[in-house]
Amino acid sequence: MKYALVTGGSRGIGRAISLKLAEAGYAVLINYQSNQTAAEETKQMIEQAGGAAELMPFDVADGKAVEKVLSDWQTAHAEEYIAVLVNNAGIRKDNLMFWMTDEEWHNILNTNLNGAFYTSRFLAKYMMNKKFGRIINIVSISGITGMSGQTNYSAAKAGIIGMTKALALETAKKRVTVNAVAPGFIETDMTKDLPQDELKKIVPANRFGKAEEVADLVGFLASENAAYITGEVIKISGGL
Ligand code: NDP
Repeated sequence: MKYALVTGGSRGIGRAISLKLAEAGYAVLINYQSNQTAAEETKQMIEQAGGAAELMPFDVADGKAVEKVLSDWQTAHAEEYIAVLVNNAGIRKDNLMFWMTDEEWHNILNTNLNGAFYTSRFLAKYMMNKKFGRIINIVSISGITGMSGQTNYSAAKAGIIGMTKALALETAKKRVTVNAVAPGFIETDMTKDLPQDELKKIVPANRFGKAEEVADLVGFLASENAAYITGEVIKISGGL
């Protein structure tokens, strides 16, 4: 069995990625934090399409929990390993820096950036041992250009971009690629509070993207065919 872990795999972009990787033949470990109903729904969608999935709840920001859940899984699957990791779990809490609280800053950094560090640190060593692996980090245009009201989120996503580039250098010889995908505006729960009609005017493609479009790109990066792409940040933003 080939395994893939998608953090925040229960809803939005993560759900579309989970479905795509299941379609590619991976047994998908669907991580989420609290919305079990959404996670169960994703699992059912995969199973109805003939794929395999398990739920794997943990808070990516809790390093000890990440370590415990992943080592328990590894002990129970001694002959196997997780070959594909998609660090997708993410949250935003926008505020101008002038008003930003310590909590708003640290929560965003802990979930988006530290979460990707904890999972990658644990799983990269198994991937390198087996001489095949794919780590795909979902970042954001906000981490490339910066976005007003998002100093915490831009910093977290820019941090993951730095991590992606450095880790890619550490793992390349062992056939483990590490890339980042940077979406613009994608229609999910995360963007439902945004004025879509206004914002789509600044997108050259004149629309928000779909989670499935991001999942297609992630599916390609996870495939054997993408073996020579590593340390890259690929935008998917309708030209934004
Ligand atoms: P959603 O809000 O739709 O889904 C977020 C997912 O992350 C859920 O599965 C949620 O689980 C999970 N999650 C949140 N916090 C944690 C945590 N601490 N531990 C484990 N899982 C957690 O977001 P999107 O699908 O829109 O976003 C996915 C990724 O794409 C994020 O990294 C986001 O920053 C990035 N992105 C999104 C864009 C967009 O326009 N939508 C644009 C650019 C980047 P639960 O259901 O349990 O809460």
